[in-house]
Amino acid sequence: MQSSLEDTKFILKKYKITANKKLGQNFLIDDEVIHNIVEASNINRNDLVIEIGPGLGTLTSKLLENAGKVIAIELDKKMITILEDRFKLYDNFILLNQDILKVDLKKLIKDNISNLQKVKIVANLPYYITTPIIMKLLEDRLNIESITVMVQKEVADRITARPGDKLSGAITYSVDYYAKAEKIVFVDKKSFIPSPEVDSEVIRLTIREKPKVELLDEETFFKIIKASFMQRRKTLINGIMNSGIIKDKQKIKEIIEGIGLDANIRGEKLTLEEFANLSNSVYKTISKS
Ligand code: SAM
Repeated sequence: MQSSLEDTKFILKKYKITANKKLGQNFLIDDEVIHNIVEASNINRNDLVIEIGPGLGTLTSKLLENAGKVIAIELDKKMITILEDRFKLYDNFILLNQDILKVDLKKLIKDNISNLQKVKIVANLPYYITTPIIMKLLEDRLNIESITVMVQKEVADRITARPGDKLSGAITYSVDYYAKAEKIVFVDKKSFIPSPEVDSEVIRLTIREKPKVELLDEETFFKIIKASFMQRRKTLINGIMNSGIIKDKQKIKEIIEGIGLDANIRGEKLTLEEFANLSNSVYKTISKS
């Protein structure tokens, strides 16, 4: 068996391909990292695996060895030609030439689950759309078990930060609401061809059976969190003002104090539970008026 590095060089030469930077093409060439991703995703023959951005198929070939069925979604037509050639003998492989952000994943899963039991998402993500992809996978409320993905290290730090930590951001809370996030392994930039400018990390999101906190209205919750981190140096009052949900400063002050917080607190200091209390209280107030 050839190494991923040899395979990658061979395929790039055979098909006269150069990586398309705009599509975030950095191909994995480190067999140990690939092994770690497959291990962490914990896939078996009863699983339907969805891979985002299979590229030249390096990770795909390992997924096919372990999963019941693999659906790979790739935007680049040039990659599609290679993948069709490479995996033509597999009857558990489905390849879609589509933009992941436009795919109806709920329908895709429903149409393909048949007698398989669990759905797991695995990918070395295109970094230019990491956040929209992760948020789509979570917000679409898919019946999935886990998301094991390579992301840029800074994003991994943010997603896995503890709410209230210096590294936390709006995405920390959004992900924590839907899933338990953990880091799996650090990946050096040298593990890819071409090398990206940043280091990477594999993370795993295990989807919660139900969201971590109870909300009266998700839209209010996410709007307040987003607004609070747009200008994280400003106070929570300003964050809520900026969200446009309530414009009356005094009213906001009363709501914040009403849930036992200091009126001058910054949004970044709140826990997920505190944001939930706050947004529930805001929602009650706006529903009354
Ligand atoms: N899985 C391969 C690997 O690990 O070597 C390639 C990973 S590369 C970081 C990201 C892949 O995502 C590329 O193949 C790229 O063409 C593909 N891609 C970029 N934008 C996409 C989109 N909107 N939908 C689906 N695939 C996309």
